[in-house]
Amino acid sequence: MSPIPQLDAVIIGGGIAGLWLANLLHQRGDRIVLLEAGQLGCGQTLASQGVIHGGIKYALGGSLTSASAAIAGMPDRWRRCLNGEGDIDLSGLTPLADANLLFADGSGLGRFRTFFASRMLQGRLQRLEPQHWPEALKGCTGWVYALNDLVIDTSALVEQLAAPVADRIYQHPFQAEQATAISDGWRLQLGDRVVQTRCLVLCAGAGNEQLSHGLGIDQIQMQRRPLRQVIVRSKRLKPLYGHCLTGISRSEPRLTITSHPDENGWLWYLGGQLAGDGVNMDDATLIRHARSELTTCLPWVDFHDAQLSILDVDRAEAAADGKRPDGAFAERHNHTIVCWPTKLSLAPDLGDRVLALLPKPSQRDSQDVRLKLPPAQSALLRWSR
Ligand SMILES: Cc1cc2nc3c(=O)[nH]c(=O)nc-3n(C[C@H](O)[C@H](O)[C@H](O)COP(=O)(O)OP(=O)(O)OC[C@H]3O[C@@H](n4cnc5c(N)ncnc54)[C@H](O)[C@@H]3O)c2cc1C
Repeated sequence: MSPIPQLDAVIIGGGIAGLWLANLLHQRGDRIVLLEAGQLGCGQTLASQGVIHGGIKYALGGSLTSASAAIAGMPDRWRRCLNGEGDIDLSGLTPLADANLLFADGSGLGRFRTFFASRMLQGRLQRLEPQHWPEALKGCTGWVYALNDLVIDTSALVEQLAAPVADRIYQHPFQAEQATAISDGWRLQLGDRVVQTRCLVLCAGAGNEQLSHGLGIDQIQMQRRPLRQVIVRSKRLKPLYGHCLTGISRSEPRLTITSHPDENGWLWYLGGQLAGDGVNMDDATLIRHARSELTTCLPWVDFHDAQLSILDVDRAEAAADGKRPDGAFAERHNHTIVCWPTKLSLAPDLGDRVLALLPKPSQRDSQDVRLKLPPAQSALLRWSR
């Protein structure tokens, strides 16, 4: 009988968390397999707005919170990756936007004056003169600042992360019943093969809850925070990446707008307060509210022929009393690590945490493990499906 193939890690889930970790572990010589139930990115990752941010949007109340401190270094970490000098080589990826804007119509800086001048924002924020405003903001009678955040095309990101590990990624909905605990890891029945792994890394997003409990890890709880994102389609739209702060009373942008190529030009994908408030509205009320928010926030744009639709998606993350967790989450229980990045932006933070929990790969000179399972394909962006 041939010996049972040995792996260092089996990663469950092919969103940003699983793909990022697959690259990190593969790079340092771990023998890995990634199992994705559907298509790569089909969960939250390809529904996200792709903003790689440093947490300033959490600090709009005027003070640096622990959440904004944990995330502050992330845009620089991603920029190094985009320059081919970071944790992972993303040099083939061109960001959709090199900066994200903060803007407000028809008002002075008001309570933002002191905040924008604070040391916390030095080097991270720059006022833009009207001649440097994007076309989509020509007509704004207020102010525009550029934040040193990035916006990335999540579809291209998934492709880029999948490429170096493509022959280790399989389409397979993993269930806890396929795993048997052994002294130094797990024995897994995968299709017609049995493999052993020193570690199971759960990156299944919302699927982590069922999997971790099925594997006997009851200490970890998950929370879902729903969002109702709004998609705006109109031939008139020009690309815009930014947070609208017009008349805000809470420490959250009123609208977060990202723009994505569409068959008729550009579509706008709206998050921010609108998407959170929308959870308590029925479809017709949310669409009416979104139209009204758009005309208040961007009165110079003609939305009369715009078509609006809604995309419902839950954020899945480690339980934090329904509040946003501060950083990425990775916790080890024997031979299983449960992960939630919390944010796309925090993927490098998740990588640090997981590497700290995993021993270096064992020095073995054995062959790669190949499974008789179909390869996983990449999903389409959620608004294109
Ligand atoms: C609307 C929205 C907008 C967002 N915008 C931003 C943003 O602009 N910037 C930012 O930093 N963050 C953003 N986020 C957060 C970010 O998208 C998520 O934190 C991140 O994508 C989570 O990645 P993940 O890999 O943990 O989960 P997912 O992307 O959900 O991936 C989990 C994967 O596991 C697979 N899976 C599940 N169960 C199993 C199983 N049993 N076996 C095998 N595979 C399984 C699923 O099919 C899925 O592909 C946003 C989130 C939402 C919902």
